[in-house]
Amino acid sequence: MAEVSRLPMIQLRNLHKSYWMGSNRLHVLKGIDLDIGGGELLSIMGASGSGKSTLMNILGLLDRYDEGSYKLGGEEMSDLSETRAAQLRSQFIGFVFQSFHLIQFKTAAENVALPLYYQSVPRRRRNDLARELLAKVGLGDRTEHLPRELSGGQQQRVAIARALITNPKVLLADEPTGALDSATSFEILKVLQNVQADGVTVIIITHERDIAGMTDRIIHLIDGQIDWDRGIKRHDPAAEIGAAEAGDMSSAGPVVPPAGEATNPGLRP
Ligand code: ADP
Ligand code: MG
Repeated sequence: MAEVSRLPMIQLRNLHKSYWMGSNRLHVLKGIDLDIGGGELLSIMGASGSGKSTLMNILGLLDRYDEGSYKLGGEEMSDLSETRAAQLRSQFIGFVFQSFHLIQFKTAAENVALPLYYQSVPRRRRNDLARELLAKVGLGDRTEHLPRELSGGQQQRVAIARALITNPKVLLADEPTGALDSATSFEILKVLQNVQADGVTVIIITHERDIAGMTDRIIHLIDGQIDWDRGIKRHDPAAEIGAAEAGDMSSAGPVVPPAGEATNPGLRP
């Protein structure tokens, strides 16, 4: 397992976010305090509407917060210009979404290489790196396929490779297995565990406790607040894939801790 840094990659203090619709205020994040160390693999759980995606979008500098503090790599993220936010995103952050967001008329390799096009990396270098990353996620023999010629799990691997090509420090995955069956989901978790082993901080939003059980820490949100936050002993996806394929889910996933006293392991000793 990768070394988890003592220095927080992400530090939130009393973070608040509201959406306004006319004069109606929807208070979505209600004072989030959170430390995430460099190189952690963790999951965020919570009911639909509890604020998971809002939190993720703020972490990914796609959205602003109203109050409190967010430090990424030690730097305060409030009042960023659009330009600076874009610069930090391309330098620090990779995104993976439930619906893959691949460009349908581009090949797997072209999709993966695309972020480097925007960074003016020469074509040859882009393509070499894209193939290298596709091989790393197990798609070395699918580089010239179009998305529609790939399974859902394969498309998500392409999306992960694309997220990694700019060498991000943090990978944010919003329900990356939401569109996949159990066995395929576990394979994606294996890929994400490998990403973490390379030193990337990986944050996964999921509804599924067996998916969360494949990370090292679960943060549970209720109604815009952290209900509980604990370190767990991660499950090995490989051990669960056979069970999932046999339709036996009884061995999958940990017992999620009940709501109770919240612990924030934050920086591991
Ligand atoms: P989750 O990802 O946990 O399902 P979200 O963070 O997407 O929750 O949403 C939290 C709440 O904020 C929901 O009530 C949602 O309808 C609302 N919301 C999310 N985005 C917006 C937005 N851009 N404008 C207004 N309300 C929003
Ligand atoms: Mg969501």
